[in-house]
Amino acid sequence: MRTAIVISLSTIGAVGLLGLAVSAQAPAISRAAELQKWAVHDEARPMPPVVDPGPAGPPAPAPADAVVLFDGRDLSGWTTSKGAPAKWLVKDGYMEAVKGAGSIQTTRAFGDCQLHVEWASPAPPVGSGQDRGNSGVFLMNMYEVQVLDSYQATTYADGMAAALYGQYPPLVNAARRPGEWQTYDIVFRAPRFDQNGAVVSPARLTVVHNGVLVHDAQELSGPTAHKARPPYKAHAGRLPIGLQDHSHPVRFRNIWVREL
Ligand code: MG
Repeated sequence: MRTAIVISLSTIGAVGLLGLAVSAQAPAISRAAELQKWAVHDEARPMPPVVDPGPAGPPAPAPADAVVLFDGRDLSGWTTSKGAPAKWLVKDGYMEAVKGAGSIQTTRAFGDCQLHVEWASPAPPVGSGQDRGNSGVFLMNMYEVQVLDSYQATTYADGMAAALYGQYPPLVNAARRPGEWQTYDIVFRAPRFDQNGAVVSPARLTVVHNGVLVHDAQELSGPTAHKARPPYKAHAGRLPIGLQDHSHPVRFRNIWVREL
């Protein structure tokens, strides 16, 4: 009897401690509350602190089980949104968005994945705000990790480099200078829907920008939109990964993905 009491007390103690530990962490919950505070593209929303990520390294080697989406040679794994051959420029191991050529997408479809992307914004920089080195990495062609020149440049916080566009600014601004290679390492969990189309679990992204954590398993409120935060609409479990043509000659290289 005495033993039983000791066990139950210690169990309560352990549960209590666990509860404390969980509520002390809970970054996703506090950020979801933060989202309600700010209108989409709210100019008053504070920009995150700047963190110098250090110099760019060489291209990160693709692990053995990765699907290489772009190895610097050709765009055979990519098409336009209509399925036509992608017309971006390929040169010296990189691809470059061509104004008017349209956004491109992978020929293969992906759901849960680990995605590695390297990109560089134009140097010298041209324009300001959203009109400065704008592109984007679209998971499932609808959930955007923003690509923008955010080195000593301002825009609305939820539209800066590494923002989950229209929803969450990165935790810090780890941008490198224009023209320098930058990396995104993204862990993406696709949303799940039940047979009635209701959300069972939302899309979730962890993003590391230039080796610096900028989103920690962040849940999205829905697909990416401009000046709006639309709700989820049920969709396929696998869809292409897209790169945005926003009329700026942003470069990409060394893109690979691991299915999870
Ligand atoms: Mg964009």
